[in-house]
Amino acid sequence: MKTMLITGSSRGIGAATAVLAAQRGFSVAVNYNKNIEAAENIVEKIKSTGGSAKAFKADVSNEAEIIRLFNEVDTEFGNLTCLVNNAGILEQQSKLENITWERLQRIFQANTLGSFICCREAIKRMSTKYGGNGGTIINVSSIASRTGAPFEYIDYAASKGAIDSLTIGLSKELAEDGIRVNAVRPAFIHTDIHISGGEPGRIERVKESIPLKRGGLASEVAEAILWLASEKSSYSTGIFIDVTGGR
Ligand code: NAP
Repeated sequence: MKTMLITGSSRGIGAATAVLAAQRGFSVAVNYNKNIEAAENIVEKIKSTGGSAKAFKADVSNEAEIIRLFNEVDTEFGNLTCLVNNAGILEQQSKLENITWERLQRIFQANTLGSFICCREAIKRMSTKYGGNGGTIINVSSIASRTGAPFEYIDYAASKGAIDSLTIGLSKELAEDGIRVNAVRPAFIHTDIHISGGEPGRIERVKESIPLKRGGLASEVAEAILWLASEKSSYSTGIFIDVTGGR
């Protein structure tokens, strides 16, 4: 049985990925931080159609909690096949001159450090060098890594820029150890994250500047992630799929 651990899969892109992964035959470890009800709803949705899933609480900005998460997933499902580093946060839109040290710590711990540590724990389990069967890592970056998100959240953009560098470097480090590392870079996806930025209607405001003239669905990002998690992408490592409506 294939097992996929998706960080932050109680809501949004992670939740859509969990549902699609179960349809494609993965047992799904649904990680959440605070919203147990949303996580349990996704698990129930998967189980109601015959899939296999379980919810695991862990804050990915905390190393000890990440280590516990991986141990619990080992116990529940065994053999990890795929890690999706999806959990991510942003904060109120702001110019850099008003961004605090504490905010930078929160953003980089959740978006960047957490992904690094999750990769480390996944490597120990999947690498053929350590007796594993190989696997895939998919990082959820953002188009902000390319644009820099000026006047909104340069901190968030930079935390995702680091994810792009991680993807490129790690793909080469692991190429001979049976693990492919790729990323998706979404933008303008209809999820709750825009509320955290202080502008729930952000997609509506920028819609006309998107070539496809609409926001995207979480399920459209999930499709790209599942392609990268499958053998169909077997000759791709270190690549980025932009899911951005053409921006
Ligand atoms: P979302 O709807 O706000 O969902 C965030 C998810 O991450 C929730 O399941 C949340 O869990 C979880 N989470 C947050 N902090 C966490 C932590 N410290 N530890 C564990 N889980 C945590 O966000 P989304 O839009 O789906 O975003 C998913 C990813 O896509 C993020 O990395 C984001 O940066 C990226 N992205 C999104 C967009 C977009 O337009 N939506 C664009 C580019 C990139 P709880 O339910 O427990 O709070």
